[in-house]
Amino acid sequence: MSAKLAQFGKRHIARGIGRSTELVIEKAKGTYVWSVEGKKYLDLTTGIGVTNTGHCHPTVVKAVQDQAANLSHGQVNIFFQKPMLDLIEGLKPKMPHPSLDTFFFWNSGSEAVEAAVKLARHATKKQNIIVFQGSYHGRTMGTMALTTSKTVYGKGFGPLMPGVHVCSYPYFQQWACHKADPTKFDAEWCGQEALHQLDLVLKQRSDPEDTAAILIEPVQGEGGYVVPPKNFITGLREICDKHNILLIFDEVQSGFGRTGKMFAVEHFGVRPDIMVMAKGIASGYPLSAIVSTKELMDTQPPGSMGGTYSGNAIACAAANATLQVFKDENILENCNARSEQFFSTLKAKIPALLPDNIKVDIRGLGLMIGIEFLDAPKGFATAVANEALDLDTIVLTTSIYETLRLIPPLNITKEETDLALEKIVASIEAAAK
Ligand code: PMP
Repeated sequence: MSAKLAQFGKRHIARGIGRSTELVIEKAKGTYVWSVEGKKYLDLTTGIGVTNTGHCHPTVVKAVQDQAANLSHGQVNIFFQKPMLDLIEGLKPKMPHPSLDTFFFWNSGSEAVEAAVKLARHATKKQNIIVFQGSYHGRTMGTMALTTSKTVYGKGFGPLMPGVHVCSYPYFQQWACHKADPTKFDAEWCGQEALHQLDLVLKQRSDPEDTAAILIEPVQGEGGYVVPPKNFITGLREICDKHNILLIFDEVQSGFGRTGKMFAVEHFGVRPDIMVMAKGIASGYPLSAIVSTKELMDTQPPGSMGGTYSGNAIACAAANATLQVFKDENILENCNARSEQFFSTLKAKIPALLPDNIKVDIRGLGLMIGIEFLDAPKGFATAVANEALDLDTIVLTTSIYETLRLIPPLNITKEETDLALEKIVASIEAAAK
């Protein structure tokens, strides 16, 4: 049945989407999804970092059902709606800095990134945006120009939005260090080198007086699950302060507990001027947001923001329930315990499974875990993902590198983590044969 339905999907759904499996699913619960044949799969993707509380968490389901029966659409350009006001109350104390207390809600991550860029340009009266190599900020007309993880996202769609300049993310430096000798890895040096690259961009390409904002993923997602050195992120803040440039953190994938803290910027102790949120915010319902200071946000005049579904009431109710689950179930605590379980086993087991010519870099924060196979033949990470699928386990790869990424729900249990590790180890072993 699945093959026939997949065939129908292929015929009638745009090919441009692209898909990593041909599974047709119709049910999901916690860490599992079921195909139309009733086959159960361990899902280590959470729909790309969205269902952080597990699929169909009962608290979220109940909140959505209740909200749907009460008020499904309270259009923001007409009303204040209660679930959004409740959500702001819930989010405010979780923000990485108390000055971040003014919100704008949208539907998707890309729309929120665009809203952040609009705000930065309008508030500073400057045009240029600096982004980083390997970044993913979306696929809409505006965000296409900001995304640099693969050419497919922009190729043939130009001219793209002007005023975007690309700087190196501290990936290459870390990669070079790791490849030469992982025991001599020097994070501080990597951060300094990447800051030097930024300095060059500001001197050679985009003068600070023309630069509205620096937009960065505090842990790079799609581009390879790269954790930047701390001095790089603190250095960005200093550069922005010095030149009156806004610092925008895109926490669409790294936010909402994914890295073991509510937001990844907390690992670096740096204040964003604007922060972008989506994905995990509402456990699977379309909701995104930007947050900034009242002063900055209110530089935009009434009417310049908004949209028909902006901050939809049901999605806001799902987000309120998500925050409740975080509290009730100590989600961050579980995330950190399971992270330790994943990293210790992966680091202990994977190197021995690989031939001498393939090195492995296992990196990430919390349950945002990347496994890069350095010098592996092209397609190796996909081969591992295919082996995993044969073992009824769904994992994703990233970007152009041979990198596997694991994004399980943050409430994955100890036993499910053991099972996931067993499947991943077996898949790597099979692909390496
Ligand atoms: N920013 C980041 C960091 C992302 O990971 C994504 C989605 N993968 C986006 C923006 C775009 O979000 P959306 O797909 O909801 O538009």
